[in-house]
Amino acid sequence: MSYEVFPRFLQIETHTRCNATCAICPNDQLTRPDMTTEAFYKIINDCKGKGVQEIHPFFTNEPLMERRLWGFMDYIQGQLPEAGIHLYSNMSLMTLKNAENLLRRDNFKFIAFSLDGASKEIFEKMRPGLNWEKVRANCEQFLALRTEMERFDVHTKAVMTLTPDNECDEAAFKAMWTGIVDEVMVMGSDGRARLGNDWQKTQVKSKAYKNDPRWPCRAHRCHTHSMYILSNGDTVPCCKDFDGQTRIGNVLETSVEEVWNSERMNEIRAKLDAGIYDEKACKLCPLWG
Ligand code: SF4
Ligand code: SF4
Repeated sequence: MSYEVFPRFLQIETHTRCNATCAICPNDQLTRPDMTTEAFYKIINDCKGKGVQEIHPFFTNEPLMERRLWGFMDYIQGQLPEAGIHLYSNMSLMTLKNAENLLRRDNFKFIAFSLDGASKEIFEKMRPGLNWEKVRANCEQFLALRTEMERFDVHTKAVMTLTPDNECDEAAFKAMWTGIVDEVMVMGSDGRARLGNDWQKTQVKSKAYKNDPRWPCRAHRCHTHSMYILSNGDTVPCCKDFDGQTRIGNVLETSVEEVWNSERMNEIRAKLDAGIYDEKACKLCPLWG
């Protein structure tokens, strides 16, 4: 069993809020309280000098709903100057001011526009609570500012998660964003909305998951390089475990390093390497459907 001596990538949930209620997402089921600022700083301090490459300061939420985001980014810059900040956003709150705040920070390196449609009808059906014209204008404004500020080191990606309700927009989505952003990604729904929605209906048995439903475990091997931290400090083995079904440990009670090298984490690693998916999160995992 081989794994990184310290996680290269950390995903840190600082809150669980979102202004949308997407059918593909369990966000509206989450009730964890916000992470304290001290807890966030403690986690970042635990990472000093360890070669962390990326911090993703969000989980199943909208990162621009975090009023402390700029302070968090500055703290990361000070403590972990080698780490880039990566965000996935629904872009509804990407005002000019927010875009400026992101693009003037050197450690901001990646943003994905989570869109799920290429027309007003499909977009607003997929992303209730959001307005198509506003989101599209925000994306265009962000891209224009990125050019103006010559921040070509910030990678941009347009993302569409396919379900039976939006497959009809797939070709238009690719045509709309190809050549406009650095990367266009269309993927099958991972069915994470298992708590509140009928996730089986959201799955499109196509794309990456068609021939190998356990593709994320095999292809990404997140358990060897990534740590996922919920707002209460609990860590989970995988980004699919949004509700903490498989708790590994708590980085606030111990440390990032201790949890990463704990017996429990190594037990889970060994199982995933062997193709044994009997942890609670894996048994519930919608990718098995
Ligand atoms: S998919 Fe993103 S935008 Fe939609 S409800 Fe979930 S966190 Fe919010
Ligand atoms: S929850 Fe388990 S089975 Fe599902 S993607 Fe994660 S590691 Fe794989």
